[in-house]
Amino acid sequence: MGFPSVLSQAQRWVKERAGPGDIVVDATAGNGSDTLFLARTVGPRGRVYAFDVQAEALDSTRRRLEGEAATSSPLAPVELIRAGHETMERFLPPEARGRVAAVMFNLGYLPGVPSPVITLPATTLAAMESSLRLLRTGGALTVVAYPGHEGGRAEADAVEAWAAALPQAVAQAVVYRFPQKTASPFLIAADKK
Ligand code: SAH
Repeated sequence: MGFPSVLSQAQRWVKERAGPGDIVVDATAGNGSDTLFLARTVGPRGRVYAFDVQAEALDSTRRRLEGEAATSSPLAPVELIRAGHETMERFLPPEARGRVAAVMFNLGYLPGVPSPVITLPATTLAAMESSLRLLRTGGALTVVAYPGHEGGRAEADAVEAWAAALPQAVAQAVVYRFPQKTASPFLIAADKK
């Protein structure tokens, strides 16, 4: 049967920490799969803020949400924001600070678009710092890192080093990885204290 993929494991850890009525963030909307998952998890009384710098990603996320809204149980209102995740604190209302239940990142680039935009270590780390300020106690930060593409290894290493250096009084960090597949994506998560 095997262990869950890094993407499913990220969703599992979020699902254990976020629920109906919560405020959550998708820091890299991409094709919208985490945005949709979050919108289902927090439901119509919750709220999702989804960031991406590429119009194609936000369009694809919007289509995915619209396609789903017709068929499934009611989703949370989703704010699709075309801005870098390193600016996320400007887009959430002040009262959300310290109340966010989960922030999810899926790094790398969106496959299949003509000129993909890759996530970069400096902005990724800045956004992770912002996430910690937004999260409530017991909230989760999840980051799926992709060492397999050009520049991806440096970013994945930077994310892991950031997690290793987190003071234990601030958050508990964990890495979920398949050691036989060194170029495969892995998951870094933090549980906010
Ligand atoms: N690697 C994943 C997909 C990641 S998508 C896979 O293989 O399925 C990553 C998304 O992050 C892209 O849509 C890209 O546009 C977005 N992105 C890049 N830099 C960003 C930034 N600074 N802020 C927000 N989103 C960003």
